[in-house]
Amino acid sequence: EFKTDYHFSSTMEEVLHQTFGLQSFRPQQREIINATLNNHDCFVLMPTGGGKSLCYQLPAVLSEGVSIIISPLRALIGDQVDKMNELDIAAAHLCQDVGQDETAIIMNKLHCREPLIKLLYLTPEKIMASRTVSDVLKYLYQRGKLARFVIDEAHCLSQWGHDFRPDYKQLTFLKSEFKNVPIMCLTATATKEVENDVISILKLKNVKRFIMSFNRPNIKYQVRPKKGKLALEEIIGLIKNKFIKKSGIIYCLARNDCESIADALNAAGIPSRPYHAGLSDKIRNAIQREWMQDRFFVIVATIAFGMGIDKPDVRFVIHNSVPKSVEAFYQESGRAGRDGDVSYSYLFYNYSDVLRLQKLMKLERKSSAKVLEGHFNNLHQMVSFSENVVDCRRYLQLIHLGENFDRQVCIRNKATTCDNCENINAYKMIEVTKEAKELGCLVRDASIKGNVTMIFVADIYKGSKLKKILQLGYDRHKYYGAGSSLNKTDIHRILKDLVLKNILRDHVTQAGEFPVVYIEPGKKFGLLATPNLKITIAINKTSLKS
Ligand code: ADP
Repeated sequence: EFKTDYHFSSTMEEVLHQTFGLQSFRPQQREIINATLNNHDCFVLMPTGGGKSLCYQLPAVLSEGVSIIISPLRALIGDQVDKMNELDIAAAHLCQDVGQDETAIIMNKLHCREPLIKLLYLTPEKIMASRTVSDVLKYLYQRGKLARFVIDEAHCLSQWGHDFRPDYKQLTFLKSEFKNVPIMCLTATATKEVENDVISILKLKNVKRFIMSFNRPNIKYQVRPKKGKLALEEIIGLIKNKFIKKSGIIYCLARNDCESIADALNAAGIPSRPYHAGLSDKIRNAIQREWMQDRFFVIVATIAFGMGIDKPDVRFVIHNSVPKSVEAFYQESGRAGRDGDVSYSYLFYNYSDVLRLQKLMKLERKSSAKVLEGHFNNLHQMVSFSENVVDCRRYLQLIHLGENFDRQVCIRNKATTCDNCENINAYKMIEVTKEAKELGCLVRDASIKGNVTMIFVADIYKGSKLKKILQLGYDRHKYYGAGSSLNKTDIHRILKDLVLKNILRDHVTQAGEFPVVYIEPGKKFGLLATPNLKITIAINKTSLKS
């Protein structure tokens, strides 16, 4: 529907190579650039790292006059301007902290017959509140030197967006005041609702919409159960088998974990370095630089590592423990495969990490109860993702980001089919409401006598002859052995499902390893209180007895 043989095309390629030093366009960039050069209003939804900046930077170079970039993030504006100037592209910003002298210089450049600035970055506050700014915009407009407005993080315009900024809403005046100046909206997070809201607030006309899927088709997602604190054997095995001399990132929960894993990898002949907030800036910069230059391949990091990392050939990302949210998982695993080649994401999951993470979240200073609850909710969703053995991993992530996804796409793409789609026939949903009730009663009765761990409750239900069980007389409980036909992991899965549904509670003990389960004091066991609630879980078919 849209022409790509725009007459700028060959010039576009030239500028791409010569000014930006890049080889080829990423998906949609060429079409988006064409559209804005054709003076269309555009709405661009592209995942982080997709290459949104080029979509306005390159047209700014080619267009006559000045492109105005409106961005809410002061810190990023500074970086962008530096980057442009390094490429010899005339860019400037007018943020709050620019002094009088510098402002005067910029104004002079803008008032030249041919403005000496191609990209002018502004914050929304500045464009609304500064007389100087509005005067210079009018001046440029009257002389036909306003190339376009670019609104970065455009979801901030909508109150449906997660980051609504009242200042942004006033940008509605752009279309009335500067008729025919094209507007380009960019965002990495928007639902259909937000998209329509943004378009209507800005009064965009005949908008070209560029909606890119957040699916990363070249990443293969796998979640694996983990036994101890560190998945050392598995990680070493994986790297030795598949990733010799390949770049990778291993994410850990704590500094100590980073150090231990890096030591073990080095001992196994895999050169690697730890990276965390406990190291000085100087050391961290050196580690990052050496990794970027392939002087060693595996970086073992806490989440302090990653923001702004753009190494194209990262072949694997391993999470040694559960990340704090589905978004975090998507972003962190998404650092693999930027070059488009097949890459791997492994998440080593166990439930004690969840409890460790909760403990860390509680210790974080300055967290109000509400913030903490938000953190717990996010973690909760990540736990559901990790415990899920039936739904497509892509579907689960994308639906979370507001995008629907057909799992057939995952199944068809054989090289990167996710683990759950590979095992699509291995599991069956069965109802376990009766078992859940029995387990709940066991927890209630057992916790009267002291702390009980999930493992211990599962043992009683399974009918184990453990000394402790017999000594405490649990073999006389009416549900002792009631779950003897179930497999132990399935019993654990029922217990965890009850925790996920807030019917049971859990916490880590001082010793730290196994979660203790209990019913909140004073509360009735939820399942008994709500008789209509049904509990179903996915059970491995091979563990089902006929
Ligand atoms: P976004 O704003 O969408 O998160 P950026 O614009 O910051 O993404 O781009 C992410 C990275 O991809 C940057 O390092 C950028 O230089 C790089 N990039 C963008 N377009 C291309 C391209 N066509 N070829 C190679 N690298 C690109």
